[in-house]
Amino acid sequence: MPFDYDLFVIGGGSGGVRAARIAAADGGARVGLAEESRMGGTCVIRGCVPKKLMVNASAYPKAMQDAAAYGWDVQAGAFDWPKFRRLLGAELTRLENAYRGTLKNAGVVVHDARASLADAHTVRLSTGETFTAKHILIATGGWPFVPDVPGAGLGITSNEMFDLENLPRRAAIVGGGYIASEFACILNGFGTQVTQYYRGPQILRGFDDEARGHVVAGMVAAGIDIRSNADVTRLDRSDTGILVTDLTGAQTEVDLVLFATGRRPNVQGLGLEALGVALGQQGEVIVNAWSQTAVPSIYAVGDVTNRINLTPVAIREGHALADTLFRAQPSKADHELAASAVFTQPELGAVGMTEEQGIERGGVQVYTATFRPMKTMFVGRPDRVMMKLIVDAQTRVVLGCHIVGPEAGEMIQLAAIAVKMGATKEDFDRTVAVHPTMAEELVTMRKPTRMHPFL
Ligand code: NDP
Repeated sequence: MPFDYDLFVIGGGSGGVRAARIAAADGGARVGLAEESRMGGTCVIRGCVPKKLMVNASAYPKAMQDAAAYGWDVQAGAFDWPKFRRLLGAELTRLENAYRGTLKNAGVVVHDARASLADAHTVRLSTGETFTAKHILIATGGWPFVPDVPGAGLGITSNEMFDLENLPRRAAIVGGGYIASEFACILNGFGTQVTQYYRGPQILRGFDDEARGHVVAGMVAAGIDIRSNADVTRLDRSDTGILVTDLTGAQTEVDLVLFATGRRPNVQGLGLEALGVALGQQGEVIVNAWSQTAVPSIYAVGDVTNRINLTPVAIREGHALADTLFRAQPSKADHELAASAVFTQPELGAVGMTEEQGIERGGVQVYTATFRPMKTMFVGRPDRVMMKLIVDAQTRVVLGCHIVGPEAGEMIQLAAIAVKMGATKEDFDRTVAVHPTMAEELVTMRKPTRMHPFL
C-alpha cells in the first residue's frame, strides 16, 4: 500500500521546517508536518528572535546615556513594557505567518496537532487521524529543565519570559549558561535588580576562560550581582515576594525567579522507545551522522538530538536530510567549527578552540588584544573589548577566535569564515585593517601573548 506521505515531520521549528520545505519544494516529496504549538518553534516563538529583540530594547538606556555624553539633548524616560510586548507579539505573529506561508508555498501539508508514533511508518495525531509515511522526522526540539528544589514552582522558565505582565523590580536568575546570562543582562538593562545564581565557580562554562572573565567583569560593572558556587536550594513565598535561599544559606527576596538551568530533549509521549528508537541519558534521540535513528525509517534533527543545540545547526541538519532523502545529494551536517554568540552585554562571540583546550592539546600560540573601543572611550566609559586567536604553533592555522565586546556576534560570523577555511595567522596578518574599527585588532596582533608547548 502506498504511503500517505513521503516524509512526515513532527515539529515546526527551525530544523523541521527546513527539512519539510526542501523535501517538498526542491525534492518533490509529499510532505506532512505536525506542530502542536505555534509554527516556528523555540527560536522564533520563545527563543532567539524575541530574546534578541529584548536585548536590543534593553540596550537603549546605555545608548541614550552615551548619546547625551556625545552632546545630544536626550534622556531615557520610562520603558513601556506593555507597548514593547504588543509590538513583539505582532512581530512574532508576522514571522509565524511567514513560516506558514513558506510551507504552504512549498506544498507542505500542515497539521496543527500533536503527533506521536504508532509504528515505524505511522503517526497518530491528537485529532484522531493517522497518517503513514515512508520517512518520519522527529524535530521536536527541547524543553526547559527545572531542578527539583523545594518551591521550584514559584519560578518560571524562559518560555514564560516574553509574556510577563510587568517587568520585575528584583529578579533571581538561576543558571550560568546562555539563557541565564542573556536574561540577566536584559533585565538589568530594563532596570531590574538582578541576582544571578550559579552552581559552579564561573558562568558560561565551556567558553574561553579569559573571554568569560571579560563578560563577567562587564556584567558586574553593569550592576548584576553574580553569585558563583551558590546553587539555589529552596524558594519560599514571602509577604512581599519570593525568598531565594542559596547553598551558602544566604536569603534574598525577589519578585521573579527564572530557572535557566538547561533544556532537555522533547521526547515525552512520542512513543519512541516502544518502537526501538534509542535514547541517550538526557532523553536525546540517538542518531548517526545521517540523522538516522536505530529505526531506519525514523530520523531526528535539532535539539531533540542534543548534538549542538543551535538553530543554524538544526537547519543544516534538516537541510542535509532532505538533500539525502529526496534530492539524490547524500549530505551530512558539518558540526566542525560551529561559531556562536552569547548575547550578553557585553556580547561574546566564539569559534573553535579555547585557550584551555589549547593548553590541553599543546603546541599553540595565543594572541590577545584588550582595549577600550573608541566609541565609548570618548564618553569615558571603562568598557573593554577582548579579542583572542588560538594559533597552531607549527602550521600557523588559526584554531580558535574569541571576541568580547559590542557586536561580537557580527564579528565572529565573519572571522568564522576564515577559521573554517583554515586561514593561518599570516593570512590574518596580510589582510589590510579596516580603520577605525574594533575588528581591525584581529589583523594587527603582532606578537603572541602566551605559548603553550606540547606537554
Ligand atoms: P546551558 O546548558 O547553556 O546552561 C545551563 C546552565 O544551568 C548551566 O550553567 C548549568 O550549570 C546550569 N544547571 C544545569 N542543571 C542545573 C541544576 N540542576 N541546578 C543548578 N544549575 C543547573 O542551557 P541554557 O538553558 O542556557 O540554554 C539551552 C541551550 O540553548 C544552550 O545549550 C544553547 O545551545 C542554546 N541557546 C543558544 C543561545 C545563543 O546561541 N545565543 C541562546 C540561548 C540558548 P553547569 O555549567 O554547572 O552545567
